[in-house]
Amino acid sequence: MRIASGGVQHETNTFSTTPTTIEDFIRDSQCGAELAGGAVIFERLGGTGTIHGGYIAAAAASDDVELIPLLCARAQPSGIVEQASFDEMLRRLLERLAAAGPVDGVLLDLHGAMVSEAHEDAEGAFIAAVRRQVGPDMPIVVTLDLHANITREMAELSNVIVGFDTYPHVDMRERGEEALRLIANIVRGAVRPTQAFRSLPLLTMPPMQCTLRQPMQSLIEQLHELEQRPGVLTATIAMGFPFADIESAGVSVLVTTDNDLSLANQLADELAARVWSLRDDLQPKLTTIEAAIQHVRDHPGAKPVLFADGSDNPGGGAPCDGTVALRALLASGLSGTAVGVLCDPETAAQAHRASVGDWIDVRLGAKVDSLHGEPIVGRAQVRQLSDGVFRYGGPMMHGLEDSLGPTATLRMGEIAGAEVDIVVSSYRRQCLDAEMLRLGGVEPTNCSLIVLKSAVHFRADLGPLASVIFDADTPGIHRPDFACFEYRQVRRPIYPLDARAVWTTNDGASSHE
Ligand SMILES: [Zn+2]
Repeated sequence: MRIASGGVQHETNTFSTTPTTIEDFIRDSQCGAELAGGAVIFERLGGTGTIHGGYIAAAAASDDVELIPLLCARAQPSGIVEQASFDEMLRRLLERLAAAGPVDGVLLDLHGAMVSEAHEDAEGAFIAAVRRQVGPDMPIVVTLDLHANITREMAELSNVIVGFDTYPHVDMRERGEEALRLIANIVRGAVRPTQAFRSLPLLTMPPMQCTLRQPMQSLIEQLHELEQRPGVLTATIAMGFPFADIESAGVSVLVTTDNDLSLANQLADELAARVWSLRDDLQPKLTTIEAAIQHVRDHPGAKPVLFADGSDNPGGGAPCDGTVALRALLASGLSGTAVGVLCDPETAAQAHRASVGDWIDVRLGAKVDSLHGEPIVGRAQVRQLSDGVFRYGGPMMHGLEDSLGPTATLRMGEIAGAEVDIVVSSYRRQCLDAEMLRLGGVEPTNCSLIVLKSAVHFRADLGPLASVIFDADTPGIHRPDFACFEYRQVRRPIYPLDARAVWTTNDGASSHE
């Protein structure tokens, strides 16, 4: 059988002032200006911990599946996707799908929280366009991120949605394999998926969506138990992306059975009720940088303290150039501290015009907007220069090559004793892998305190190195605090914006065979 695959992945932060264009997808996908399919995708993503890595591995392990990858476009989360860019990428996928000849099924590798200028539910529009082209009988299996804001349209237009079960997202390859095996079984006629969807009036914030922490850890264990029940093919809990102010933002669940509609409905209701019961346990507690600095002083010689500056997480669309925590470090007198990775292409280029060991006058960070502190003006020593190319060595996206662009490590210190090493990149990248610090000459295990531009993903690789992890109380457009955002589009009532929000089994329900 011939299975086509493709997709465009973007998590859109509607509070961001930075629009996303096709140039961002071209730079971040690293599949050339054409966003090429075929051999380029096999070469780049084969063997990696990504969805397409999973498709490729499962196709290779089967006797009868020929995988035809058409497009894998991905851009770092940021603001609303320019419509012409969205249309152009969709056009390329549809054109390549038509040119591929007869196929038996389509795998779509999407995120689930993309917003374009014309489509609040960009994935819904994307799946609809593919469905129109292939007709109602062609199996379409969609993989979505744990942060997907799944809509009824997405659920109804696809035969099955398979969502990530982990945050940090370390199961992408596994979910890609699952999706390929599932679509192959549908084509063989071995299974007939029946999917039930429930959308809960519930928004949750990243720190507590982490599946390494409670209550998510137990919730995912229960999800896996549910998937083992007779007749169940797969199930998903999508925690949603709260920084997309769209009508359908929020938590949803899906249960897919083998041709058993009443079982799918019953289990989807059970799962939804379970998530709803945890709504108060999913609210985070934040720590100031001053309290984290005091913790380091009180525990000398301990392993590094990690300060998760999730408010400025580029992985959720923030600028990645916030300076509030850095400014406090400079004034603290602490040595052995670090910030990774702060994106400031102008300062990185300035350092690259100097040499290692030189002192330069910098105006560092906080240049994208006024919501993430003010630029740090001062003297910095260039400690290390690199091209920024690295390979993810931790569990997430393992083996994938990526780049921070031209990168410089600067050392700054305002007062005697203070010493902060700042890895300054040219591209926005979430600091989720120790390699991103090491390429800048910063060995995390030697640090006393590290400010990480990441909310949760760093926990997969850097978490085991830490003595303690604090969720940062800093300003920003990815701050896990509903009080800081003015929601205009999201449906109301919704918890916790509205204490009166309730969930009943008939709300937001949809199911199909
Ligand atoms: Zn995610």
